[in-house]
Amino acid sequence: MSVRTEQSGQRVLVVGAGMAGVQTAVQLREQGWPGAITLIGAEPHRPYDRPPLSKALLLGKATGAAFDVDFGTLGIDLRLGHGATGLRPGDRVVDTDAGPLPYDHLVLATGAEPVRLPGAEDVPGVHLLRTLDDAERLRPVLAGQRDVVVVGAGWIGAEFATAAREAGCRVTVVEAAGRPLAGVLPPQVADHMRRWYAEAGAELRTGHAVTAVRPGGADSCAVELSDGSVLTAGAVVVGIGARPATGWLAGSGVALGGDGSVLADEYLRASVPGVYAVGDCASFPSARYGRRLLVHHWDNALQGPRTVASVLTVGEAETPPYDPVPYFWSEQFGRFVQYAGHHEDADELLWRGDPAGAAWSVCWLRDGVLNALLAVGRPRDIAQGRKLIEQSAVLDPVRAADPAVPLKRAVR
Ligand code: FAD
Repeated sequence: MSVRTEQSGQRVLVVGAGMAGVQTAVQLREQGWPGAITLIGAEPHRPYDRPPLSKALLLGKATGAAFDVDFGTLGIDLRLGHGATGLRPGDRVVDTDAGPLPYDHLVLATGAEPVRLPGAEDVPGVHLLRTLDDAERLRPVLAGQRDVVVVGAGWIGAEFATAAREAGCRVTVVEAAGRPLAGVLPPQVADHMRRWYAEAGAELRTGHAVTAVRPGGADSCAVELSDGSVLTAGAVVVGIGARPATGWLAGSGVALGGDGSVLADEYLRASVPGVYAVGDCASFPSARYGRRLLVHHWDNALQGPRTVASVLTVGEAETPPYDPVPYFWSEQFGRFVQYAGHHEDADELLWRGDPAGAAWSVCWLRDGVLNALLAVGRPRDIAQGRKLIEQSAVLDPVRAADPAVPLKRAVR
């Protein structure tokens, strides 16, 4: 029997109908998978993209974010409102709240879920921002120009604060660390972003942990801070990170990391035969960076599925290992912020341009090799930098520090 004939009798089951799950199904068809594909997702909505949720959609400037994919024409059996509850790899069965589903190959694409603020979940007026429903609930807050407290000055917190200011809300952002984006950028870089909040008219309170949130009376919330002060707001938006949505895999034998991610290998195979993992729910070993990476960004949810689809259709031998240069973007306070690569504290930091200005970049170098790049309003730096990182290019630090010199001309 030929490989294709054998595959045509097999079913790939994809669990999770976000970017990574949808891309897996689409890529399988594009790469010629002849067998059945079933895509299940817990949410009732037609699969949609998340980045617009904290941007245009929140402000009512976009009406939807659904992917432009014709599942029927592609022969993808899409089942919405189906949550996976367990996995029995020995039987090759996924249990769902609508009954068991058999598979020959299983792709885990359940994404991530937001970290909740303990004790605040049930307080009216406290919001998360992960799903379309979350964004729909937040739209009236912006339209009504309510006072808002944002907990967490990470990417989501900054984007929400941007939209809320644009809508005319009074915004206070509370951050437990001493600076915004503390988990991702070093102080020399992140300190410059403080000013962005002030310029947009948002108050940023760093070094303040939220100790409690309680109903504040008259349709408001009271947010208690570690210094004893209390903020009153019409709404509280919690943006303190996300964790892989893998709780349903407990007891299945699929190996998970301490961060909750499915421990995938360089072909995005999980520890159990026939099971793969893509997107926000999976970490993978990066030979490029010499460590395991868990990437919670859109481009990773786009790229990983190509690898899995290739492994399933043509096999590992003909598939390059998954080792991307991570990439993401953020739109905040009128700026387009992009990052490519991965840096460590020990890397040398090199500025391109004045961080007080509108457009600048930062390079991270190790032994002269470009490891990572952050660009604010300099998309050309990112376009060139991504390729240079891929090539492990060694930069001339003097030319690289000159923003007038195209980055690709700074290669030694
Ligand atoms: P998800 O998008 O989380 O999709 C997973 C899906 O699986 C969900 O629909 C979930 O309901 C479903 N699911 C979970 N558990 C189960 C289960 N047990 N059974 C069935 N289904 C299940 N990245 C950028 O690079 N730039 C940006 O500007 C940017 N903006 C963002 C804005 C917001 C508000 C958010 C939330 C994220 C943003 N991201 C951005 C990150 C990016 O959207 C994610 O990295 C990407 O969506 C990950 O895709 P995924 O398919 O892995 O996970």
